[in-house]
Amino acid sequence: MSADLSFDQIRLPPECDRLRGEVRAFIADEVAKGTFVPDRPGHGDSHDRAFSRRVGAKGWIGMTWPKKYGGHERNFLERYVVTEEFRVANAPVRLHFVADRQSGPILLKYAPEHIKQDILPRICRGELCFVIGMSEPGSGSDLFAAKTRATKVDGGWRINGSKIWTSNAHVADYMIGLFRTSAPTKENRRHGLTQFLVDMKSPGIKVNPIYQMTGQHDFNEVVFDDAIVPDDHVLGEIDGAWKQATSELAYERSGPERFLETFYVLTELVRALGQKPDARGAEGLGRLVAQLHAMRRMSVSVAGMLQAGKEPVIESSIVKDLGTVWEQKLPERVRELSAFLEEETSNRVTLDEQLAFALKVAPKLTIQGGTTEILRGIIARGLGLR
Ligand SMILES: Cc1cc2nc3c(=O)[nH]c(=O)nc-3n(C[C@H](O)[C@H](O)[C@H](O)COP(=O)(O)OP(=O)(O)OC[C@H]3O[C@@H](n4cnc5c(N)ncnc54)[C@H](O)[C@@H]3O)c2cc1C
Repeated sequence: MSADLSFDQIRLPPECDRLRGEVRAFIADEVAKGTFVPDRPGHGDSHDRAFSRRVGAKGWIGMTWPKKYGGHERNFLERYVVTEEFRVANAPVRLHFVADRQSGPILLKYAPEHIKQDILPRICRGELCFVIGMSEPGSGSDLFAAKTRATKVDGGWRINGSKIWTSNAHVADYMIGLFRTSAPTKENRRHGLTQFLVDMKSPGIKVNPIYQMTGQHDFNEVVFDDAIVPDDHVLGEIDGAWKQATSELAYERSGPERFLETFYVLTELVRALGQKPDARGAEGLGRLVAQLHAMRRMSVSVAGMLQAGKEPVIESSIVKDLGTVWEQKLPERVRELSAFLEEETSNRVTLDEQLAFALKVAPKLTIQGGTTEILRGIIARGLGLR
């Protein structure tokens, strides 16, 4: 396969400025109420059901989805602005974020009507946490090696096996899981996997915590021991989940959350350098901001292409690769640029705390959502280079 690489020239339209103002006012109000502290690293990773409901009440979850399912029929560029503002502010959106970004769109495409009517409005109200059940021990980059088995039984499917690195599973309501329903064929090793909607409260599901280097409990091992999933929870074609995967990845890989996870150190560097940075500080900061600006243009372009109904798989992989490598290097670069700042600078302590946290977060950034090597493989294949 070979495809053209093209980033459409897209600018955020004026309605996005108005929306940005509304989101900033909402965030300022939440900060004033003490819901979260913007410069406290890790806050964006916390789960806050009450906050998610307030975001839902503002109409900022399921923004692009049809109104008949609780959505708001706004465009991807408006959703982009909301995502960007929450991420920059370090707001605790983790509870609803995966459902909003990718699980909802999967349900919209592949779930039976009664499931859509039941679940999508609850996602839009900020009531549900979804998780991605793809990786397994021995099957991460190579998703199609998944072994966790779904066996047909009367009225449903019996699941046995385990998933790993499942972010948020300890607070989740539902998983969209990829399970083996039959063996791969000689002609197609991707054949034989099916996507299911799994109620995480079902008997036979056990969630074991895995802790990050920061001490945070983000992800988990999820063990299935004869868990039963009903027939109407099959999503799409049995054995044909590989056909459903590509568009999901464009949603997962291109958003501003893919380069803003350590953004707080840049904001803090700006504060710490002050109004009159020396030449080294100004040059270093200028470079970082220029790189960020270019990536943001590319990421906005992908949002615009999604809005136009395209599937920008190569472009979103490029954004994810450039973005995660950048956000991974950012704390190190900020540490170098801030090394000669006066000890008594008032923001020094905050900056040092943030750097200590960001340096521990950094290694995961180029793994989650697809590793750098895998993304570069996808890009090379898409361009006909391999
Ligand atoms: C913070 C975090 C959150 C995560 N959340 C989730 C989640 O919610 N749900 C979920 O399902 N998964 C999740 N993951 C798992 C993640 O998707 C996998 O870790 C990732 O896909 C890599 O798989 P692996 O760990 O099995 O490594 P492997 O696939 O074993 O890769 C090991 C190394 O080999 C390289 N490699 C592998 N194959 C190739 C190849 N063909 N060519 C070149 N190099 C290759 C990789 O790039 C990597 O450097 C999360 C991971 C992290 C770090």
